[in-house]
Amino acid sequence: MARHPDPVHVRAPGKINVYLGVGPRHDDGYHALATVFQAVSLYEDVRAHPSAGFSLEVSGDVDVTDVPTDDRNLAMRAARMLAHAAGVNDGVHLEIRKGVPVAGGMGGGSADAAAALVACDALWGTELGPRGLHELAVRLGADVPFALHGGTAVGTGRGDVLTPALARGRFDWVLVLSAQGLSTPAVYGRLDRMRAHGDALADDPLDMLDVPVALLQALRAGDAQELAPVMMNDLEAAAVIDRPDLELALADGVRMGALTSIVSGSGPTIALLCAGPDAARAVQEELRATGRDALHVHGPVAGAQILST
Ligand code: ATP
Repeated sequence: MARHPDPVHVRAPGKINVYLGVGPRHDDGYHALATVFQAVSLYEDVRAHPSAGFSLEVSGDVDVTDVPTDDRNLAMRAARMLAHAAGVNDGVHLEIRKGVPVAGGMGGGSADAAAALVACDALWGTELGPRGLHELAVRLGADVPFALHGGTAVGTGRGDVLTPALARGRFDWVLVLSAQGLSTPAVYGRLDRMRAHGDALADDPLDMLDVPVALLQALRAGDAQELAPVMMNDLEAAAVIDRPDLELALADGVRMGALTSIVSGSGPTIALLCAGPDAARAVQEELRATGRDALHVHGPVAGAQILST
């Protein structure tokens, strides 16, 4: 193994679920999903420093007070899992700088895990290759494989069986961030209860989980106007039910000129699809004028990659 004496810097993107169809809950607690991920230009930066033991520090442009720095951190688990799988006896100090909101439904923790895999792989020279890293990513969490691969992809199974989707050009998004996060398991649990009680706001799970062909065509054509009407998130009703602020942001975004608005993943981040960069900047400005935390990003972007060693 060729080890790196210097720190390795890896950048991994956050994601938006352009489409999120949720099937019934399985006995193992997971739901079958049919989803389309798009990696967007909001990043996690992870630096892996050579070290005898395992340690981690976190800072960021977002509130990081709820991020654990011990073995509960997904990046730390990724580093330990890789060391174990590759028979590495060295440790690592992980320095994480977060740009993706914590518990925001944008897969920030998963991006950290993907970045840690790529960074430690280079630091330790494990030579597990893309397939080996992908297998570890699947074990770490359903969103981790996508953070490794990036771009635009269809996710089935638990969201971890990925098929790259062709997406031409770029899509402009405005994200409305929320100071108060949402727990992913809690949102899924609420959807299950809403469905069990026949709640009119929660659609029943579909028998056949599939991403609509029209959505894949819109991505392939790079056409935001065509994409907007076919975007959908089964978790949205469960995410917004106790959060009138989110309902308001969804409506305000469209009133201000976005083509459509959607809760990203399990929320609470809201993604507004805009016709282009100018439209997105205008929507962002108007949202900021109402005191909201709004960011203009674009997708698709690449998955976890080494920036420097
Ligand atoms: P997803 O959409 O993948 O469910 P999310 O973006 O909603 O995730 P994360 O920010 O990835 O949420 O993390 C949710 C929780 O996981 C946090 O509240 C935190 O306690 C824990 N966690 C573990 N590792 C990390 C990490 N590296 N960064 C952020 N949170 C982490």
